[in-house]
Amino acid sequence: MKSHAKVVVIGGGVVGCSVLYHLTKFGWTDVVLLERSELTSGSTWHAAGGMHTINGDPNVAKLQKYTVELYKEIEELSGQDVGLHMTGGVMLAATEARFDWLKSIMAKGRYMGLDAELITPAEAHELMPLLDPDQFVGALYDEVEGHLDPYGTTMAYAKSAKKGGATIELHTMVKDLEQRIDGSWDVITDKGNINAEHVVNAAGLWAREVGRMTGLELPVLAMEHMYLITDDMPEVAEFNARTGKEMLHVVDFDGELYLRQERGGMLMGTYEKDCRPWSPRNTPWDFGHELLAPDLDRITRELEVGFSHFPAFNEAGIKKIVNGPFTFSPDGNPLVGPIRGVRGLWSACAVMAGFSQGGGVGLALANWMIEGDPGFDVFAMDITRFGDYASMAYTNAKVRENYSRRFSIRFPNEELPAARPLKTTPIYQSMKAKGAQFGVAYGLEVPLWFAPEGVKDAFAWRRSTDFEHVGREVRAVRAGVGLMEISGFAKYRVKGEGASEWLDRLLACHMPKTGRMTLAPMLKVDGKVIGDFTVANLGKDGWFIAGSGIAEDYHLRWFEQHLPEDGTVSLSSCGPSLVGLSIAGPKSRDLLAAVTSSDVSAEAFRFMDIRRLDIAMTTALVGRVSYTGDLGYELWMTPDVQKHVFDAILEAGKAFELQLFGLRALNSLRLEKNYGGWAREYRPAYTPFECGLHRFVALDKTADFIGKSALASMSEFDNGDMRLRTFMVDTNDADVIGDGHAIRPSRR
Ligand SMILES: Cc1cc2nc3c(=O)[nH]c(=O)nc-3n(C[C@H](O)[C@H](O)[C@H](O)COP(=O)(O)OP(=O)(O)OC[C@H]3O[C@@H](n4cnc5c(N)ncnc54)[C@H](O)[C@@H]3O)c2cc1C
Repeated sequence: MKSHAKVVVIGGGVVGCSVLYHLTKFGWTDVVLLERSELTSGSTWHAAGGMHTINGDPNVAKLQKYTVELYKEIEELSGQDVGLHMTGGVMLAATEARFDWLKSIMAKGRYMGLDAELITPAEAHELMPLLDPDQFVGALYDEVEGHLDPYGTTMAYAKSAKKGGATIELHTMVKDLEQRIDGSWDVITDKGNINAEHVVNAAGLWAREVGRMTGLELPVLAMEHMYLITDDMPEVAEFNARTGKEMLHVVDFDGELYLRQERGGMLMGTYEKDCRPWSPRNTPWDFGHELLAPDLDRITRELEVGFSHFPAFNEAGIKKIVNGPFTFSPDGNPLVGPIRGVRGLWSACAVMAGFSQGGGVGLALANWMIEGDPGFDVFAMDITRFGDYASMAYTNAKVRENYSRRFSIRFPNEELPAARPLKTTPIYQSMKAKGAQFGVAYGLEVPLWFAPEGVKDAFAWRRSTDFEHVGREVRAVRAGVGLMEISGFAKYRVKGEGASEWLDRLLACHMPKTGRMTLAPMLKVDGKVIGDFTVANLGKDGWFIAGSGIAEDYHLRWFEQHLPEDGTVSLSSCGPSLVGLSIAGPKSRDLLAAVTSSDVSAEAFRFMDIRRLDIAMTTALVGRVSYTGDLGYELWMTPDVQKHVFDAILEAGKAFELQLFGLRALNSLRLEKNYGGWAREYRPAYTPFECGLHRFVALDKTADFIGKSALASMSEFDNGDMRLRTFMVDTNDADVIGDGHAIRPSRR
């Protein structure tokens, strides 16, 4: 075995082999994959091998399309048959609400260049005669669906990688990982050690255990999963003979089932409600090519629906039941990318649909390692979308929820209940008592809107119980004054003698003078946006930065990667040690004046001023800025006084008919002013010209900020092919949902 490699990939499942292949494809050949047993001996070997492009997240859908398109390439390169059966597939809706969901998926897919077609139940029956058309209201047909051979596919990746120069060591178990002072890794195995610049955790069922070798507790958990295979069915034989085709792949959402042909019979799998985690704390190292005991009782409910929706199954004998474990993250998407704060350590774990997503994961990771950037928008699967709050117990609750809802509808306004409440602020109970309907962002309970007595959030595709009340909140802010909690923003402090110079290079804006704030886009080397913040110069107290709450770890990783090594800059995230309130609306100045003795007149406290003010019996850092786009103020304080400040503002607010408002009103208010938000309108796929942030980019400043040269080379007309635009759409009972995600995969 080699004693040194540029990259060591741990794990020879479909994901590790895809990562290995992509590394060689893009020119890194000094790469080694270590597998404790044979290739595929984790969850890969017993997969049903189904693959499809459709996904609720358009960026993940595009990655899935890339994966499916890759199979021809690796087959040709390796000479290994992947056993591809591109049958096409139908997704079935048994209810109108589900059909609405399929329509939205189709519309998003069309925007992303995926071709799928809405069809009637009769047309679906024509394509797949086992289904009973009377039990469905519609379907979505997609020709890019099917299944393949999990072993053949993994071998095709592996052989292609080997052809590209990679080495694969079988029966070599990684026992430990030790980082040297120079940042490289000693990978300790039972066959000797390898020193590597980069280590990729693609250990699938053992990803948690490999994570623990570096002191990490990754938010990943395996679940048991069952599918059955029937004896040969005459209906299948008849269809094959009549059409010369295989049965289509089917997803029956309301039955929580998926189906496909398996030789002369059918395979039916289910994501059952009564689900079971497997090895919730430790995955046994001696688990290998074995299956778990089937437990038909747990899936009876789903099978009954399945046998009713597909009546021919009632006559079919069951040949085999497979029960095997595979891993999930708390939201079901993979955990990919560099580990924050640990040099050379990469994650390619929690890939629950390896045959739909494995290629995209390999592409993103290889791009990221070689180029320093995944090459497209992978925020939906970036490991930093989970912070420290994602503990083992949290992960267990969320994964169970996610698994049992895999085929359930997620309404656009739906908040999922598992593992909540977890993080709350001191005014949580007060807001709850005032009718707050909470959502969750980065583990924190955040008020979405305030309901009158007896009214609750109801989840729907169309306007729901919140509509008139959110409208009331919006109008109150526009005409008077509203109060909102903003503790969910990410907050950072930057100090030290090198702080201003560092920020000037990191952020694309002009740096504000003492006591002032500015909007601050942050760019990547390719000139695309990687963050948008409000940065404040607090003079001798250093710098204060506020940004997107859900991207806290994501941005910290970027900040830390760019910190100078000479110790002249200190960076910290304030996390829950700083909480916030915002007042907004034309009467907000008068309200602020009522709780402070400081002069907050328009002249004394200008737009984008920031300073410490006395508020009631305490003090707060107050900035004159509002994300609603109205006259407004953000007040930052320590948690111990938040309730006091909240109560004082509520009391003083009585004279101004102060209205509490939540995130939904904020979104409406900000969109009216065309203010973007991170992960929505601002994404790492856009240049500032495209998403309208160029107004805040100071190409004329002296500092050579990251992204400057890329941006400077763009002419007025050649500066990206998209533009962020705000539309007014007349609607009756449903509101449009902006979903302007754009990715351009495979820039190589
Ligand atoms: C019943 C069932 C049906 C499924 N159906 C489908 C389907 O239809 N479509 C689909 O896309 N997906 C399906 N899946 C999921 C699919 O199997 C996974 O997405 C995929 O296998 C994940 O691959 P992986 O490479 O991440 O992990 P794994 O396959 O678990 O591979 C990890 C590898 O790492 C090795 N390893 C771990 N630790 C070490 C160490 N310390 N040293 C050396 N080697 C190590 C292991 O031996 C293993 O080979 C199904 C899964 C199950 C259980």
